[in-house]
Amino acid sequence: MATSATQHDSVNYGANYTWGRGNLVLEQRYDVETGTATEWKYGYLSTGTLYWTIDPQWHQIRMLLPKDGPGRDSDPPNPVPVVDLRKRMINMLSNSRCANFVAQLLATVSRRNPSNSLVNADPLKVWDMIASSSQRGFSYTSERLPSGREASYALGSIGTGTAGIAFAASYATNTDGISRRMMALAALHETIHHAGTNTYSDRQLAEAVHEMRANLASLPAENDLEGNSNFWNGALNAACLPPVGGKR
Ligand SMILES: [Zn+2]
Repeated sequence: MATSATQHDSVNYGANYTWGRGNLVLEQRYDVETGTATEWKYGYLSTGTLYWTIDPQWHQIRMLLPKDGPGRDSDPPNPVPVVDLRKRMINMLSNSRCANFVAQLLATVSRRNPSNSLVNADPLKVWDMIASSSQRGFSYTSERLPSGREASYALGSIGTGTAGIAFAASYATNTDGISRRMMALAALHETIHHAGTNTYSDRQLAEAVHEMRANLASLPAENDLEGNSNFWNGALNAACLPPVGGKR
């Protein structure tokens, strides 16, 4: 992403300013009455496509990845519901069963992998780091697993300043309650991957759950990516996904 900054004055850019092609990355707007400046930041993909914006209140809006290879989306930009997902994660973690499971999982996986330090024991703090301008934030992808199944992905890592989450593309269009619940669970799953400075892999997380479950269920093969993902995600799901229409 571009990192240079260009300053523009508010006379030339009104509130309804239309995206240009100059790859503007930082715009400071001066309030003529108070003399204070507000900043708008814009991120671009290497193709020059606008990828994200940050407004003065630090609300970040991410765009769909453009069609840049097989299986990529070419749909109109449709921002990831960052605020809604965070609220849903807070709701899930307000359930002590979910909070205790996640806390034990992060303690176990970080102890088992001492060279890969824990970014933060609070998944919401990790989520906020991913959302911050020092990482890559959120997008959608239609990339599929070898099985053909759609999936969400943790991209990059916090340690390299490249952490992002690409959600399964269908979440961009399926916005019903059940889809949003599943998307929030995916958000929590991918955030837990990013809780390791270099990301904790599905295998490392499966091994941690295996240890937490006193080795009762047998682990999938080490190279079975989908099996290892399902192994620990099943436990996360059982602890954190609130029952449909139910109270807890
Ligand atoms: Zn995973």
